[in-house]
Amino acid sequence: MKSSQSMWFGLVVFSLCCSCTSNHRVPAPKWSIAIHAGAGVIAKGKDQSEVLAYRDSLSEALAQGRKMLSEGATAMETVEEVVVLLEDNPLFNAGRGAVYNEVGKHELDASIMDGSNLSCGAVAGVMTVKNPIRLAKRVMTATRHVLLAGRGAEKFADTQSDIERVAPSYFDTEGRLRSLQRALKARRKSAANMKVFRRQELRSTVGCVVRDQAGNLAAATSTGGMTAKRWGRVGDSPLVGAGTYANNDTCAVSCTGTGEEYIRHGVAYDVAARMRYRGDSLEEAARAVVFEVLAKDDGGLIAVDSQGNMTLVFNTLGMFRGAADSSGHFEVAIWEHPLVPSHGISGADSKP
Ligand code: ASP
Repeated sequence: MKSSQSMWFGLVVFSLCCSCTSNHRVPAPKWSIAIHAGAGVIAKGKDQSEVLAYRDSLSEALAQGRKMLSEGATAMETVEEVVVLLEDNPLFNAGRGAVYNEVGKHELDASIMDGSNLSCGAVAGVMTVKNPIRLAKRVMTATRHVLLAGRGAEKFADTQSDIERVAPSYFDTEGRLRSLQRALKARRKSAANMKVFRRQELRSTVGCVVRDQAGNLAAATSTGGMTAKRWGRVGDSPLVGAGTYANNDTCAVSCTGTGEEYIRHGVAYDVAARMRYRGDSLEEAARAVVFEVLAKDDGGLIAVDSQGNMTLVFNTLGMFRGAADSSGHFEVAIWEHPLVPSHGISGADSKP
């Protein structure tokens, strides 16, 4: 079977259950990686070429992560590079393809966390940083702070000569502009219309969680936020404990969905806390948070634990996602439940 065909089978069919998990207990993988590119729907009847574009972009990012991990890259190196790749892709709501706020500007948020020592860094509301995840990492490594926002974050970026800067127009894309126009129209009509818009919005925030060969965990998340958000609004993605969390003792988590709900419930940390204090498995913890704490259509999350088990779970109609590990497992999906394991896909790295 050609690799493109095999990968196509990794993209799954619509599921009523709307969740998927992938657990690999025996033998424990040497490394594991999961990515997401947002919860939310892509209409099932959508132009096939658009679906294929998402599939290929996710596969490319996942393959990059797989290559790095099999060659011995650290979890932190891998989550950063994979998120950079997703940020550079205009399909996704992070970096280049960031959504517009209500006044037609882009304000970008990102965070990264190292599970081996709880180091973390984040930026919120940056407007000229090509790859916010790189600046978030720099906040972690070059300051004594965790989160820099707005003008202060831009000023900090000015001091870092190798952090690439762009004109705000770099983030302008046709598709996101149309989406802003639809959102503003819905908002003018009624709150109910806006609610429908939110449910149908292609959110496309990106994230990555990894367990590397040394057993270290890391998580990273990057987003343009929510279309037509209020100027200055900050979601969960740059907030450690809400949108991103990593601790070698338990798990690494990256979230996507309605940020306010993720902040309210401290979602990423809640997954880790359930494991630590209740002794829940990764899957139990993630499912409890997504299906019992959050409400339907709020979003989803991806997570990996210290054994390399992964879970990718969501309460929306779909979530763009992928997962791979050192056993040769490599899968990409949008709607599927459960993810179809695609062992033996051409290029799969079964013996790193
Ligand atoms: N969580 C992001 C935010 O609220 C959006 C998303 O994940 O789609 O900014």
